[in-house]
Formats: sequence, structure tokens, C-alpha cells
Amino acid sequence: MAMHIQHPCQSPYCQPATARSLPRLLLLLLACLLTNGCRTTRGHTFSSERPEKHTWATEHFVVHSDHPLHSDDPLIRELQDVRSQVIGLLELPPQNDLVHVYMFSDEASYRWYMQATWRDLPPRRAYFVGTTRELAVYSFEGQHAAEDLRHEFSHGLLHACLQTVPLWLDEGLAEYFEVSSAADNRISPPHSQELAAARAEGWNPSLFRLEQITDFRTLSQRDYAESWAWIHFLMHTTPANRQVLLDYLQTLAQTRTPGKLLNRLEATVPSWALDFDNYTEQLIVSAPGTASDLTAGQAPEIN
Ligand SMILES: [Zn+2]
Repeated sequence: MAMHIQHPCQSPYCQPATARSLPRLLLLLLACLLTNGCRTTRGHTFSSERPEKHTWATEHFVVHSDHPLHSDDPLIRELQDVRSQVIGLLELPPQNDLVHVYMFSDEASYRWYMQATWRDLPPRRAYFVGTTRELAVYSFEGQHAAEDLRHEFSHGLLHACLQTVPLWLDEGLAEYFEVSSAADNRISPPHSQELAAARAEGWNPSLFRLEQITDFRTLSQRDYAESWAWIHFLMHTTPANRQVLLDYLQTLAQTRTPGKLLNRLEATVPSWALDFDNYTEQLIVSAPGTASDLTAGQAPEIN
């Protein structure tokens, strides 16, 4: 799950543009995974500073941490792997900007910093924050770090390569790459289960509706699941569907007014609505715990 808002910057941390591809007054905040509120531990003092003692840098991203990192660190390998997948599978143009990853050593320090710096943000387990100054991912070491980084770093890469990223697409792609590439066909059981519940309630998917949403605070769990499903549908069904997505991403690299992806899909794939409906059934049956509701023998054929 992730959230996203976009509005003119009101933060003292947002300075006039220094990154050449980032327009002034642009502030993007993408957050992941609702958890408990900000907490401190009695007897401890946490700094409101970001981790800056050590950096591990490539020409594409910089990791900031409080302890040294090495090339064989799982964190570094995860980031390199995600970048390879995002750039390669989506055929993105070269990055215009670095992505900075601030890796806190513990959750309390992360929450202390985020609460002190971004006072209006709801507490979340990880954030991507894009300002006119830098593209920054904030996370902390722990059992969910790899999953959180795959999601937030994907946001960072998209914004480093593209002029604009519509909210549904931003979250759909981040949810897609959040699923480890080691998982079968990048199936997300929570999203498939959400789609199963939605289907049982008479849900009607609507890319038209998703493309109207611009405030991440209005995105529901079901919206995240549907955004993920649209990306999965475009990436895993036919070359024509996949090309609609790839062409749209190329347009996003060239203009901030790209129009709607749905218009392109309608023009290219007349059967898109029925195809998506059928594909969501495959996504649902692919998830553990949902197959028993469907007819035995309907083995999914997801690529
Ligand atoms: Zn997100």
C-alpha cells in the first residue's frame, strides 16, 4: 500500500530548483504502508537529522546511512536489482536525476525525523519525497526494508526518468515492482485477495476513474489493488498491451501533459474491457486462499 500527494511546496526544506529536470514548486510525496504513529522510547534521544555519516554512491543513486555499506550488502544488491528491473522492463530513458536513499538504523529515528521534518504527513513505514531539491527515499532497517525499498525506490526511479507520473500509474508500478521478482509472476496475494473481495461485492473496475484521482489521500486499498492489476494486465498479457504501456511511458518522458492511457488502450485494443475482466479472474485464482472459490481446473496462464 502506498500513498501520494502532489501540491506546491510549503516546506522550508523545499528550496528553489537545483535539479535541472525538476520544475519549481513541485513536491511529490509517496508513502508506503500505514503503520502505528510516531513513537519514542523513554530514556533515549533521537536526532532529527537524516543519516549522513556514510554514503555509497553510483552514478544513478546514493545511499546515506549511519554505518558503512559495501557492494555486497543485501540492501545495495536489492537497489541495484530493482533499478535493473524498472529501467529494463519499462525501457525507460536515462535518468535525469540522482535518487537519494536515506536508510535509518532504527524505526524510532526514522519516525522522529519524519515527524519533525514533514509535520503534515501521516505516519507511514517508508516514504518517497520528491522536491525541487532532490528525489529522496526514506526507510529504516528492519524486516520490511527490502519490500519498502523496492516500492519507494521504484517511485524515485520513475521520477528521475520521467517528466511526470500520473498517480495511478506511479502506485501501480511501485506495487508491481514491490513484489519480489523471485515471486511467481510477481503475483501479490494481498492484492489478488482484495480483488476477489471486490469481485464478490460486485466491483466494476474503471481505469477511467483511477486516472481522475490526483490526491494520494483518497486512494483506497482497492484502488492500489486495481492499479496493480492494470499494470499486471498491461505487462503480462499481449505484446500490444505491453506496448501501450511502454509508449505511454515514453510520452511521459517528453511531456507533462500526456493525456490518458485509457484513450490509447481503447484505440489499440478494442477488447480491452473484456480482456481485463478475464485477466482479473486469473489474478484472483492465482492467489493463495482464493482458488477454492473458482472451478477446479481453471489453471491460470499468466506470463
Ligand atoms: Zn507508493
